[in-house]
Amino acid sequence: MNYRHAYHAGNFADVYKHATLIALLESFKAKATPFCYVDTHAGRGVYDLDGERALKTREAVDGVLRLLALQSVPAPLRAYVDLVRSLRAQDGAGGQRYPGSPLVADGLLRKCDRAVLCELQADEARALRSLFRHRPSFHVHQRDGYEALGALLPPREKRGLVLIDPPFEAQKEEFRVIEQALDEALARWPTGRYAVWYPIKLGRDIQPFHRWLKRRCPGKWLIGEFLVHPDNTGERLNGCGLAVINPPWQFERTLDALLNVLCRHLGQDGFADRRVHFPD
Ligand code: SAM
Repeated sequence: MNYRHAYHAGNFADVYKHATLIALLESFKAKATPFCYVDTHAGRGVYDLDGERALKTREAVDGVLRLLALQSVPAPLRAYVDLVRSLRAQDGAGGQRYPGSPLVADGLLRKCDRAVLCELQADEARALRSLFRHRPSFHVHQRDGYEALGALLPPREKRGLVLIDPPFEAQKEEFRVIEQALDEALARWPTGRYAVWYPIKLGRDIQPFHRWLKRRCPGKWLIGEFLVHPDNTGERLNGCGLAVINPPWQFERTLDALLNVLCRHLGQDGFADRRVHFPD
């Protein structure tokens, strides 16, 4: 396994994923009862945009850094930009840290809520454990996140979110692994909320996953996709998608508003597009 998220931290795909994660976690807070956040592929929790890996790709330049430069941040992105800004402010002038999904969750979860973070790579898991050493309700496991779902679900809180955000090193075969993991997870916890992030290169490679999702979760799925290039070549990351199972009420409106502003601010080479699909 070679994947290191530090090369991609803060890129357009992270912006979309983390802004949506905030909206999904926020949706649980309407009720006072605790919820559980499970991150199957957690990463190291925080990234340095001034670090060697981030500077090699400079992907954040066309992602979060464009948004941080805005004088007036559109409403659907405000909570996300505020969260990133507050992390940077903690580091003083020139702060360049960027929050991964566990640290985004840290900003949203209440004292009564719980997080379970799985990360397979030893050094990433070590960094993650160190980041949350003073946060007893955040549990870090160095293990396969897909496999962990069997042991973790259903959580005792009986409500919560599972984020599945794999590195897709297996390319389009990763979808079959995700389908199998979701199939078992849904059998254990059919009412859980699940969000799956996926890359888009060739649009046609995603179709079998869409069909599987609609068949397995009739009426309970939602798909939002963000493209910064046409999805007609397998040679680069053209966009990304998030599939949500058991989404919050009318979440398609939230996603649509978010994707609309992302298209306005994060297009590349004059191109941006969005697709939101949900059951009729
Ligand atoms: N969710 C993170 C975020 O948004 O900040 C980024 C995660 S990154 C896309 C994928 C992570 O999954 C990498 O850190 C990689 O080491 C880890 N990983 C790869 N295979 C895994 C597996 N089977 N179980 C758990 N973690 C895995």
